Amino acid sequence: MGTEEDSKEAPVELFCPSEEEIERWMIRAFDMAKEALESGEVPVGCLMVYKDEVVGKGRNEVNETKNATRHAEMVALDQVLDWCCRRSLDARSVCERTALYVTVEPCIMCAAALRLLNIPVVVYGCRNERFGGCGSVLDVSSADLPQTGTTFKCISGHRAEEAVEMLKTFYKQENPNGEKKHCTSFCFFCFFFH
Ligand SMILES: [Zn+2]
Repeated sequence: MGTEEDSKEAPVELFCPSEEEIERWMIRAFDMAKEALESGEVPVGCLMVYKDEVVGKGRNEVNETKNATRHAEMVALDQVLDWCCRRSLDARSVCERTALYVTVEPCIMCAAALRLLNIPVVVYGCRNERFGGCGSVLDVSSADLPQTGTTFKCISGHRAEEAVEMLKTFYKQENPNGEKKHCTSFCFFCFFFH
């Protein structure tokens, strides 16, 4: 006490993924989304990358786990925390340097989790008009909210049309009674309400 020296760690250098990195990692996020589609899940996939290494990946697991919170990002975040634990690394300092690549804008819940864990950058494909937490419905990513982690930067639009097409494909599927699987219009997370 008494010194003017700031005892906090030096601020994290803001990083911005290059076009090449976005291209490379989004290919894999889309592969995860395709896997979700083939498994009867809303097609969203993601990767979390720290120092050029994949430290977490996920796709929606809501239907198979019957747990509406098992979004791709939550699955991947769990893996990041496990990855840190296994290496005895401080999760905060890893998360502060980890980018998320995801095919659809994170929802409000996931955006809040990303904030709380101090993820600095999110690259996403299409917008999530119904539950988007990065500007589409609420702006959890950049809002001035006290004691809720740190804001994060979003880079959107990469392969957006393809991400939307995958979601449409999912919702066009029919259940065994010949009815539309969920709803007839494009709406993300409508499975919450059926
Ligand atoms: Zn989510």
